[in-house]
Amino acid sequence: MSVIAFIGLGNMGAGMAANQAKAGHRVLAFDLSTQALAQAEENNCLPAPSAAEAVAEAEIIITMLPTGDIVRGVYEKDILPNAKPNALLIDCSTIDIETARLIADLAVKGGFRSADAPVSGGTAAAEAGTLAFMVGCREEDFAAISAALEPMAKAVFSAGAFGAGQAAKICNNMLLAITMIGTCEAFLLAETIGLDAQKFFTIASQASGQNWSMTSYCPVPGPIPTTPANHNYQPGFAAAMMLKDLRLAMQAAHTGDTHTPLGTLSAELYQKFCDAGGDIKDFSGIIEMLQVKD
Ligand code: NAD
Repeated sequence: MSVIAFIGLGNMGAGMAANQAKAGHRVLAFDLSTQALAQAEENNCLPAPSAAEAVAEAEIIITMLPTGDIVRGVYEKDILPNAKPNALLIDCSTIDIETARLIADLAVKGGFRSADAPVSGGTAAAEAGTLAFMVGCREEDFAAISAALEPMAKAVFSAGAFGAGQAAKICNNMLLAITMIGTCEAFLLAETIGLDAQKFFTIASQASGQNWSMTSYCPVPGPIPTTPANHNYQPGFAAAMMLKDLRLAMQAAHTGDTHTPLGTLSAELYQKFCDAGGDIKDFSGIIEMLQVKD
């Protein structure tokens, strides 16, 4: 049994922390939301009064927070000054590569082992303990990091050095945005030309159009009863988070002088969706915007 501090108990962190508790670990949980803390307690985590107090006796410290600025703030104010020597610091949030490298640098200088370990899989996988982790860390720390992530994971991949986990994540999510928009367009076209959505799903999910946005996260209600499409596009994975990830991808593309026309267009479409109030909806809810002609 390990003592784990878990900071950030939102759509993703709630299920992830619960799975660490289920695996028999003592989970000291902290979130700014009292509702999230109450839910963590129901899931056998121990609510902590502050992030600083959560990390003080932990061997493993996991963060699952919205943005790089917030992660950096929590590291500088709460984690680095209060964590035990040699604690294992794992940030599972999706953030920019520069901030990931900066906090890794601060962690190393403080004598800690650390990793960027963003995830793929969504809230269903967070609850089921079947996330895919993309890890950037020192080679010698990967085994310990992998073992710490195991109760939350279907797979743990080593992506390379510090920041490489975030690099893998933003490339993956740019592809996810593109396939989601493409899948939405295909369902909208099917409807227009009189093809039943369920029949199209059955065929395309086993034909060459098959992709995760269709077969695991279908943007129309019906084919997969658990997806946000069946619950008025409640997130899930908020469109605002997808837009954040696309901005990170566009920033990296700009820095590397890489041409990403479909990534750029996807970012523009998610920006438009968020500006029109879709930011708090699930990212698959962009189908509602795409079905309305300008
Ligand atoms: P969320 O907004 O549901 O949860 C974030 C939580 O962090 C909230 O409960 C919030 O109260 C808490 N928080 C914010 N600032 C804090 C602070 N200073 N101290 C303590 N708690 C604080 O977001 P989410 O959907 O769980 O996403 C978290 C991260 O995971 C993001 O970086 C996102 O991009 C990434 N991600 C999300 C999904 C998804 O499907 N939702 C999938 C993969 C990756």
